[in-house]
Amino acid sequence: MDIQQAKRELIEAAVALRDAGLMFRGHHANLSARLSSDTMLMTRGGNVANLDDDSFAVIRTDGTVLEGEVMPTQAEIIQMHAAVYRTRDSVGGIIHTHAPHATVFAIAHEPIPVVYEPLMRFGVTEPTPVIAWAPRGSDASVQGIVNAAKSNPGVSAVLLANHGVLAFGKSPADTAQLLATLDEAAELILQARLIGGEKPLPAQAFQQIEERKIKFADVKA
Ligand SMILES: [Zn+2]
Repeated sequence: MDIQQAKRELIEAAVALRDAGLMFRGHHANLSARLSSDTMLMTRGGNVANLDDDSFAVIRTDGTVLEGEVMPTQAEIIQMHAAVYRTRDSVGGIIHTHAPHATVFAIAHEPIPVVYEPLMRFGVTEPTPVIAWAPRGSDASVQGIVNAAKSNPGVSAVLLANHGVLAFGKSPADTAQLLATLDEAAELILQARLIGGEKPLPAQAFQQIEERKIKFADVKA
């Protein structure tokens, strides 16, 4: 993805997430897009609710900053993004927020089960796991994220215990949509638990949805 398109997509994703309430009240978030096999464009820090062309830095996926001044609070989490790009080639966009309903599960140390069909359209076929708490961006935290991304292609997001969510999809736009859908799932599951709890999808649902995705390639959800 070229740098101008990456900026445009990240700005649009941030606006969509902000308007949907998925940055919660503090507007805390960080976003990135893959530029090439070993470079990414990432938010530099500051106010992510109102990004502009100057809000980004170009960073190599080994963590080296190539262009743009990264604020210290943002430098701390470079590896949280970089390691996911290194681990999974298909990832084109990564977004971290404290989306309010998904973060309830992160606070409760409870994975989000796959019981909401739209999630499966984003390739989420496994529960979104909880990564044990460690300081954000630390080796321990990043290793937990990498292990989850590496071991299971049906995982496209993780819950950071006592903190928030990290989603990784094909592009920034796709990842924003994935994050919104994950938060919807979390909200609906919490509601379902008031009337007897969520129920599993039938065992064959995963295969049937895959088949229909191929047949109706343009239909999203
Ligand atoms: Zn955070």
